[in-house]
Amino acid sequence: ISAYFNGKFVDANDPVIPIDERGHQFGDGVYEVIRIYNGKPFMLEEHVDRLYQSAYAIKLQIDPDCGALKNTMLELIRESGLINLDLYVQVTRGMASRNHLFPDCPVSVSMTVKPFRTIKIGEKGAGVTFLPDERWQNCFIKSLNLLPNILAKQSAYEKGFLEAVLVRDGKVTEGTSSNVYIVKNSSIITTPLSKHILSGITRMAVKGIAIENGIPFIEKQFTPDEMIQADEIFITSTTMEIMPIVRVEDHEINGGEVGTITRTLQEQFKERIFHSIPV
Ligand code: PMP
Repeated sequence: ISAYFNGKFVDANDPVIPIDERGHQFGDGVYEVIRIYNGKPFMLEEHVDRLYQSAYAIKLQIDPDCGALKNTMLELIRESGLINLDLYVQVTRGMASRNHLFPDCPVSVSMTVKPFRTIKIGEKGAGVTFLPDERWQNCFIKSLNLLPNILAKQSAYEKGFLEAVLVRDGKVTEGTSSNVYIVKNSSIITTPLSKHILSGITRMAVKGIAIENGIPFIEKQFTPDEMIQADEIFITSTTMEIMPIVRVEDHEINGGEVGTITRTLQEQFKERIFHSIPV
């Protein structure tokens, strides 16, 4: 058992989704990726809240009782027999004959789980490149429509970079699947929350850690130039956690070494994972 679709636990390869499914045909839905460490979902409440916010933003009505949804998630986790895994949850506007207008049918809920492995480059750091942010104006919604993100990530990968840092109106917004931070004079600087970025759950954790440790956490826009001149850079996401960036295009950051603030955040993040309470 490694998946769930509308009330049934299934194998991820089972053909359970009909052709007339709006996630499949229109990308008409929203999603979340939640990491489970040692059987404990990390920041589950925050992920579920964000799923509901994304759904609300696209006028998608999920069962207001989030308890049932959470129970299904926990059941799938148990059924999988895994303890270190990523849970993918997707909610779409359901199944109806193809038509742009909203159908009158129940939403579809699907989930998959897969084991995760910690990425080794988290110790040494990685490289990023800049690309124009060609996405729409509502990037705070965790929508299934990821084409601009996919194209930018692929283009970065083909040039040997881990991530593309997106630039809108001369300012860094975020990565294709991550939030972006620079460290300057011992302060962390990151793009403020707006419609143009996703409110990362890992970003929330990093903000909390920074505040607890007396590291200034400044939410303001910065330019690609400021990024190249930063003392340290890191990016965050549920699956990359806190990823040091030691190269921006052909510029080395901090002599190509992971910086001390980034290290501190990584260590404190591990502590949080370790102490997170089972749900
Ligand atoms: N921005 C984008 C565009 C993303 O896809 C992600 C990954 N979900 C993030 C930021 C980081 O969010 P989180 O820390 O919640 O995984």
